[in-house]
Amino acid sequence: MARSLSATYGREVTAPPIPDVQDIALRKPRLQIPSTLESIVTSDHTERVIHTYGGHFLELTRALRGEFDEPPDAVAYPATEAELEQVLDWCDSNGYVAVPYGGGTTVVGGVSVPAEARGAVTIDMERLDSVLEVDTTSRAARIQAGIFGPDLEDALRPQGFTLRHFPQSFPWSTLGGWIATRSGGHYATNHTHIDDFVESVRMLTPSGWWESRRLPGSGAGPSPDRMVLGSEGTLGIITEAWMRIQKRPVFRATAGIAFDSWERASEATRHVAQAKLWPANLRLLDPAEAGRAAGMSGSEALLIIGFESAEVPQGALIREAVEIARSQGGSIDDDDILIDDGSGAATGRGGAVGNWRSSFIGVNAGTTNGMGLIGDTFETAITWDRWPEFDAGVRARVGDALQRVVGDAWTLSCRFTHVYPDGPAPYYTFSGMGTPGGEAEQWQTIKDAANQALIDLGGTITHHHAVGRMHAPGWRAQRPDLFETSLRAAKRALDPNGILNPGVLFDPDPVPNSR
Ligand SMILES: Cc1cc2nc3c(=O)[nH]c(=O)nc-3n(C[C@H](O)[C@H](O)[C@H](O)COP(=O)(O)OP(=O)(O)OC[C@H]3O[C@@H](n4cnc5c(N)ncnc54)[C@H](O)[C@@H]3O)c2cc1C
Repeated sequence: MARSLSATYGREVTAPPIPDVQDIALRKPRLQIPSTLESIVTSDHTERVIHTYGGHFLELTRALRGEFDEPPDAVAYPATEAELEQVLDWCDSNGYVAVPYGGGTTVVGGVSVPAEARGAVTIDMERLDSVLEVDTTSRAARIQAGIFGPDLEDALRPQGFTLRHFPQSFPWSTLGGWIATRSGGHYATNHTHIDDFVESVRMLTPSGWWESRRLPGSGAGPSPDRMVLGSEGTLGIITEAWMRIQKRPVFRATAGIAFDSWERASEATRHVAQAKLWPANLRLLDPAEAGRAAGMSGSEALLIIGFESAEVPQGALIREAVEIARSQGGSIDDDDILIDDGSGAATGRGGAVGNWRSSFIGVNAGTTNGMGLIGDTFETAITWDRWPEFDAGVRARVGDALQRVVGDAWTLSCRFTHVYPDGPAPYYTFSGMGTPGGEAEQWQTIKDAANQALIDLGGTITHHHAVGRMHAPGWRAQRPDLFETSLRAAKRALDPNGILNPGVLFDPDPVPNSR
């Protein structure tokens, strides 16, 4: 990787040595683990190192430099709800910060220990990792929060079911993390967000248990599940949920349509979305992304359309979507439309779509960290009426920040990860060669420009990467003030001592319980 970066940027880039875990200096634990908890709580050096950071570029960079200023003082591994109660009681009665931890793939600082903590315990949920029940009649399953994506799918597969929720971080993230962050799966339309699959949730708070009733739908007041979804570990620790599951798809159809204009390609995407065909995939790559991730020329945009179903052949739907895209200027050979009629043997060539899929699934965070390369993504959503101006404004402002920070050698590209009838969810990727050691400040300048552009131009600070600590100021700028007042009141009711993830979503109350 260092060699390839040297060639790209015309300067010598070297890979930093990876520090030995045992050589990393940590402050002494600030708490004493009671003997009753010794079997499930540890202050082991390696465990504290592993749980210090999530998956953001800056965190990985700090880790590679051996900077571990705010490690948790202890890490708990409860294997039962009773053990989780004991751990949370211990934290609450001593005022220790409690950080719920799933797979640690947060890219917004969601599992960091705040500097103000007097003692902090990371509660790793990985031992609560089973599919407990499958209701084949209603098609729902009771699943524990600490289960990782592949294990969840392995457990449902023998009965022919799937949760069908595949964020790009699927192999390394957990059901509890998905619910806590309102994660977005890789399907582009219709049911793809974890929100859509939650039937009921069970969560432990310092004030007691919160469990909603299993229902296919309900119009009874504000939804308790909606309160848990996106709470990012600030209101309680999710232990399990009943999740809506579905039959595994067998009919599939895919096509990649090329456009010589980015604007016409987004118009085509809008028309397909508004035709309510609900493709599983409707992913638009701008020319830069299509060149990098799908082997295209670099001057054409690529619209990837995919359909799948457990019940119905998808050939007619893909042909209809392709015709809409063609009517907006897209081009594709009929032979490049890939159709699997349920036999598992697809007809057609598939073209650039296969390249893109391998590059998406093969994502590997952290391979360039510490080499001076500043690379990150930011994502948002915007209604169609504002889209073209929004995109131009974001590119101008972020491009300007990149130019100031790294000079001429930078890239900024965009794809749509999700598409709604009323607007797209654009996902921008930037990179540039900065100065090794100065990445944090340089990244911050670019990130500030991106955040400000999203908010000023009417978008959301995040579409599916969550708020965490990093997006808290942007979220403050876009939400109604009284909403935060209400949410803080709920936090005081559920977590009166303010021990759960202080600083995530919003600044902690200065004096807990004082308002
Ligand atoms: C390479 C990469 C690709 C990604 N792709 C996507 C994507 O496609 N879609 C997407 O939505 N996100 C994506 N993310 C972000 C991240 O994976 C998601 O936010 C994911 O839902 C986090 O799950 P986790 O189990 O790793 O949770 P963690 O990172 O451990 O925690 C995330 C937050 O949830 C809280 N939390 C965790 N478990 C619980 C629990 N049981 N109860 C209460 N609170 C809890 C934590 O305190 C923290 O605030 C990506 C991240 C990376 C590194």
